[in-house]
Amino acid sequence: MSAPAANLEDRPSLLKGRRTLTLRDTFAFHCGPERSCFNSCCADVNIVLTPLDVLGLARRLGLTTTAFRARHTVTLQTRDLQLPVVALKMEDREGRPCPFVGPEGCTVYQDRPWACRMYPLGLAVPPARAGEEPEPLYFLFEDDFCEGRRDGPDWTVGQWREDQGVPERERLDAAFRRVVTHPWFIGGRRLDPRRQELFLMACYDLDRFREFIFESSFLKRLVVEPELAASLATDDLTLLDFSFRWVRFALFGEPTLKVRRVTN
Ligand code: SF4
Ligand code: SF4
Repeated sequence: MSAPAANLEDRPSLLKGRRTLTLRDTFAFHCGPERSCFNSCCADVNIVLTPLDVLGLARRLGLTTTAFRARHTVTLQTRDLQLPVVALKMEDREGRPCPFVGPEGCTVYQDRPWACRMYPLGLAVPPARAGEEPEPLYFLFEDDFCEGRRDGPDWTVGQWREDQGVPERERLDAAFRRVVTHPWFIGGRRLDPRRQELFLMACYDLDRFREFIFESSFLKRLVVEPELAASLATDDLTLLDFSFRWVRFALFGEPTLKVRRVTN
C-alpha cells in the first residue's frame, strides 16, 4: 500500500471541513496495485517525518542519521510555533516522486513513515495546555485523487492502527508528541535558533546526538547511570527515548535529568 499525508497547518486549519474520528469510528478504505491511482499519491507531497521514521529509514538504508537527513529530508517550520519539522525530500524531477516509490509500490514498506502508514487518516495534535496530556484527534483526508475511499471494507481507526503496525511504535511517537506539545510552548513561546538546532540534533540526528553524549563533557556534567550509558552507546531506541528526556531538560528546563555535583 502506498500513501502520503501530512501538513504543517495549525490544528483548527487542519480540521476545518474535515471529518474527525475517535478510535471506534469507521471509514471505508482499500488500496492496492489494482487501483488506477496506485502510486500516484507517492509524489509531490509533504510527508512530515517523526524521529522514529528518520531513525528507521536511515537504518534500513544503511545510512547514518546525519547522511539520511542531508540526502532525504528538508526542514520546514510549523506555522504557529515555527517549530522545526523534518519532511521527506521528493525527487527533483518531473512529478516530484518520493525517492522510495517503485513500480510495485513502496520500497521501504516495513519502515515507511507514520504518515504513510496512517493515510487516509491524519492526526491533529492540540496546542500545549498546562497539566493536560495532549489528546490527539484523527481526521480523514478526502483527496479526490485517491480511489481508496470509494469502496472497500470498513475499518475502525483502532483496527487501522493495528493493521499498519502503529501500536508497537506508539510509546516513542507519544513521547515525541509530548515534546512538541510541551507546556513550555504555552503562550506562543518559540525556540531560538540555537535551541532549534539542539532540538533537531536530539530528535532527528541520533548519530550526532550519540557523539555529543560520548565525545563532549555531557557525561561529566549530567548524572547518567552506567547501565543506561552503556545502552545509549549501542541501542538506538533507548537513545531516542533518552533524547526526548534530554530535550525536556535542556530546552524546557524540566527536571528530567540531574546535574552532577562538582567535587574537589
Ligand atoms: S488508493 Fe489512495 S492511497 Fe492507495 S494508491 Fe491510490 S491514492 Fe494512494
Ligand atoms: S515512503 Fe513509501 S509510502 Fe511513503 S510516499 Fe514514499 S513510497 Fe509512498
